[in-house]
Amino acid sequence: MKNQPTNPSDLKGTVLNIQRYCSHDGPGIRTTVFLKGCSLRCKWCGNPESIAFKPELSYDPQKCTGKACGRCLKPPFPEGAFYFVEGDDERVKVNWDLAADCDQALASLCPTGALEMFGKLMTVNEVLDEVEKDASFYRNTGGGMTISGGEVMLQPDFAAALLKGAHERGFNTAVETACNVPWSFIEKVLPHVDTMLHDHKLTVPERHKKWTGVDNKRILENFKKAYETFPDVVFIARTPLIPGVNADEEHIRAVLEFIRPHKNVIDYELLPYHRFGLGKYELLGEVYELDDYKTPSADLVARLQAIIDEAFGRKEKTSPGGN
Ligand code: SF4
Repeated sequence: MKNQPTNPSDLKGTVLNIQRYCSHDGPGIRTTVFLKGCSLRCKWCGNPESIAFKPELSYDPQKCTGKACGRCLKPPFPEGAFYFVEGDDERVKVNWDLAADCDQALASLCPTGALEMFGKLMTVNEVLDEVEKDASFYRNTGGGMTISGGEVMLQPDFAAALLKGAHERGFNTAVETACNVPWSFIEKVLPHVDTMLHDHKLTVPERHKKWTGVDNKRILENFKKAYETFPDVVFIARTPLIPGVNADEEHIRAVLEFIRPHKNVIDYELLPYHRFGLGKYELLGEVYELDDYKTPSADLVARLQAIIDEAFGRKEKTSPGGN
């Protein structure tokens, strides 16, 4: 981000949302700060609002009162960005190309909340003051702050300042990352991280490219370098488990082979695919491509989990929840 201040507390980043009382993103009760911007295009992504760096407009037709309101048909809204179709229902339609430049000031003119922005600029201190509200939970449970995305490492100065500030306030820190970034970005962030949760999405480079838009060469190099350069960080590998994509024994065994030589990789979690985020594509005027895919069966998850448990020398492990 250009023209950033020199005081780290005043650095600004694009924050999608801050979620309190999380329990799957690191130890204890946590507050998870979601940043905007991602360098992958996973076809199953349930968080399309986290992909673009800029704050962006969303439109929920269920909340639009249509002709009874009509506020977005007039200036200062861009001409033609919103319109009615005669004979259709009473709600406005959106020309997403013309509406792309709408900002928070315009969205806030919508009286019903049908128009909202995904994401806003916040300073490090503004985020940490929000996180601080649950400090007593962190103290009692060993929890703290997790930064997720999007891709955390794509805002390396902001993420590093947030994590350093969280440590200074006495909070445990964690990041969720796919590490598809230059090593120099990771190097800035990891000195301030207690736990790094990282995605092994697919193992075969061509398949990784097919499903996420990039191959995994740089990602795997970054994981290995991170394990070796930061021995005090706790690493937890994860796979978002999608039938027909990666929910197979071959992938699970390949990930285990990659991580097991590194003793600071303490676990490998399976995150069964779910369809919760799909309505958000419609709010952004986009189409979800992976419509036919299903959540993995409990039997399949249990079978793959058993392979992991055996590799980690555990008799059994309850399945984690996941995204
Ligand atoms: S301003 Fe909001 S409620 Fe009014 S017509 Fe536009 S989208 Fe609908």
